[in-house]
Amino acid sequence: MTCHPVEIPGVGRGFVCTSGRRKRCACGRPATLECDWKVPTRKSGTCDAPICAKCTTSPAPEKDLCAKHAEEYERWKEGRK
Ligand SMILES: [Zn+2]
Ligand SMILES: [Zn+2]
Repeated sequence: MTCHPVEIPGVGRGFVCTSGRRKRCACGRPATLECDWKVPTRKSGTCDAPICAKCTTSPAPEKDLCAKHAEEYERWKEGRK
């Protein structure tokens, strides 16, 4: 874990800490992508599951889905026919 000081306007000085451990995909490989499936209950608004280049399902350019949401995406497509 590395922490470095940051100046936050109007708030003052704080610290931002980042974990040194890279996120890993469910298969164990280092994840370079994140799931972009919309999850309204999450703060970020998307699933954000770490995925590696081999496990991603890309429904559109710049979009990636984790295994679970790739399945949901398939079902969603079926439902639209
Ligand atoms: Zn993987
Ligand atoms: Zn996902």
